[in-house]
Amino acid sequence: MRKHIVAGNWKMNNGIIQTETLIADLKKQEKTSNAEVMIAPTFTNLWHAFQSSKQSGIEVIAQNMHFAEEGAYTGEISAGMLKSIGIQTTILGHSERRAYFNETDESLAKKVDAAMANDIRVIFCFGEELSDRKAGNEASVVESQIKNALFHLSADAFTNIVLAYEPVWAIGTGETATPEQAQDMHAFIRKTLAEKYGNDLADSVSILYGGSVKPNNAKEIFSKPDVDGGLIGGASLKAEDFFAIVNAF
Ligand code: PEP
Repeated sequence: MRKHIVAGNWKMNNGIIQTETLIADLKKQEKTSNAEVMIAPTFTNLWHAFQSSKQSGIEVIAQNMHFAEEGAYTGEISAGMLKSIGIQTTILGHSERRAYFNETDESLAKKVDAAMANDIRVIFCFGEELSDRKAGNEASVVESQIKNALFHLSADAFTNIVLAYEPVWAIGTGETATPEQAQDMHAFIRKTLAEKYGNDLADSVSILYGGSVKPNNAKEIFSKPDVDGGLIGGASLKAEDFFAIVNAF
């Protein structure tokens, strides 16, 4: 059975004090759904957030990591470093990393391999640009992003992979894919997985939707059969809003 997951991507927001305050607020919220809850603070706050979230049912995860184990990569963080402070999951391939930090399918394949080698679960993000959707190319773009970065993996590796479909035109714009657009793409992603790895594996992988999910639209999006949760940006920075989304399941 695949899991429901709601993950908050805090991006480059919140210093240590705000991190403490937001985690304290999150811990006061009542959880009424079966979704796994994750938050992704910045690197400098991961250790503190990890300590503060113990026994809260909230998993603290990373926003990114490097593919090398260690060495001369100034400003980067390795899988081993994340593991050494207890982090077990990371986001990879967020569209902002692809757009502003030149991450490519090829470099992401290397990052995914490093995560797998260190037994780190990956929330792998991908999604088309507005121009792709206008040209009707969204399915082929998404298919190639998934195939190029993930289809060298063994079937076993997918127990540590969560997919996050995030149409770039819906991230931080207030514009959301309609529930039907999300469902269509998620069903296509599952079919793509099934063609390569079989139906059982495709049915077991959680596929999250990301792109302006808010308390007022989460329920409808999450009601779709192939949508297993959400990757939440802006709305994850307010405890009440984030838990309204968590509880939309
Ligand atoms: C994101 O950054 O992954 C995201 C979905 O952001 P927002 O919810 O703000 O659109």
